[in-house]
Amino acid sequence: MTKHTESEKLFSESKSYFPGGVNSPVRAFKSVGGTPIFMERGKGAHLWDADGNKYIDYCGSWGPLILGHANDGVLSAVSKTMQNGTSFGAPTKLENELAKLILTFNSYLEKIRFVSSGTEAVMSAIRLARGYTKRNKILKFEGCYHGHVDSLLVKAGSGLVTFGNSSSAGVPDSFVNETITVQLNNKDAVKKAFEDFKNEIACVIIEPIPANNGLLLQGKEFLLFLREICTANNTLLLFDEVISGFRVSFCGAAGLYSIKPDIVTYGKIIGGGFPVGAYGASKEIMASVSPDGNVYQAGTLSGNPVAMSAGIAQLTQCLEPNFYSNLKAKTNYLLEGIRKVNTFNLFKLFQQESIFWIAFTEKESINNADEINADSMKYFKILFHELLKEGVYLGPSGYEVGFVSAAHTYDDLDKTIKAFGKALSKL
Ligand SMILES: *Cc1c(COP(=O)(O)O)cnc(C)c1O
Repeated sequence: MTKHTESEKLFSESKSYFPGGVNSPVRAFKSVGGTPIFMERGKGAHLWDADGNKYIDYCGSWGPLILGHANDGVLSAVSKTMQNGTSFGAPTKLENELAKLILTFNSYLEKIRFVSSGTEAVMSAIRLARGYTKRNKILKFEGCYHGHVDSLLVKAGSGLVTFGNSSSAGVPDSFVNETITVQLNNKDAVKKAFEDFKNEIACVIIEPIPANNGLLLQGKEFLLFLREICTANNTLLLFDEVISGFRVSFCGAAGLYSIKPDIVTYGKIIGGGFPVGAYGASKEIMASVSPDGNVYQAGTLSGNPVAMSAGIAQLTQCLEPNFYSNLKAKTNYLLEGIRKVNTFNLFKLFQQESIFWIAFTEKESINNADEINADSMKYFKILFHELLKEGVYLGPSGYEVGFVSAAHTYDDLDKTIKAFGKALSKL
């Protein structure tokens, strides 16, 4: 029997310090029940908790750790950089290096600005879109999460859907009045919004691979339609690639689908496990950003040298030959193995490259948030705890996706498949 006494002790203390005992809501295990597992150490695909239990990790810090935990290259870059100081509030060579890595391989981007989180990247990108187009309205999709930006906390997935809220208190109606929200994969709804708000929409923002409300895969055709309608209306197309960027390919979803967005936001993987976000666009659009232009945006720790060096070390490894095809092959192997032990077809597995989602559904595909049955989350809850007992750690919500990293070995994958088999026999 696995013990969690130390985690329980730490949680009862953390509850006296933090709302819900945590510093980001989904970590609190509210939707799966039980006590959050306090982690102590990670190496490769493995995590060790405060009680010494070992897990194969598919949360990957919610996406950033594409090389797994404590990657040697990332650690050595970080420790070398930090010997020279941790922050200067002045430019460093490292910012150039990370920017060059990103821009060279994402040719539709000409300039980029580093910030410290995905939320900050999206917030700044929206301001840029509005400043550049001199329009106020933005169009987003139900079930797409873009960080906790006030005006985007409308039907936003992630922690909001996990806790059954469609929006957040503390966001005045007037802030979201400029946000138009429509269903994913619904061309008519998008067309109608463009008719209703002619010449008013600054940008359409979408996760091209929506992965914060389950994995709500969109066809390339829908994304192409968005590209066309945006161009026809002088509206900017903003791809929020905070998850998909450098995850599905080195050129993100834009590269995977060969669709050029006008503005892109990044986060997660580009920081190598440190807090980094970024937004980028053409020279012309980026010329609106201060100090060149009049869209203000700044950050005390933006382009932090330690974080930049982690990002450089991580992205450099992602550029190795066959990196993404190996990652995909591992994910395919894992999911094929799980399907074999899922003999009663209790759930479906949806996948895009190394991202996967376990959905308790009869449907063959799920393309928008309304198709998810909230009641089915009770089965995920059971599966989640059975898998914990077997030493497999998933993100603690049925609305969250899993990530395979380059550090997962085929032995890890075999053990995971076995663990699913055992867990399922109890379901
Ligand atoms: C995680 C995420 C964000 C927010 O990034 P933070 O670093 O958590 O602020 C924004 N957009 C998408 C698509 C994300 O997955």
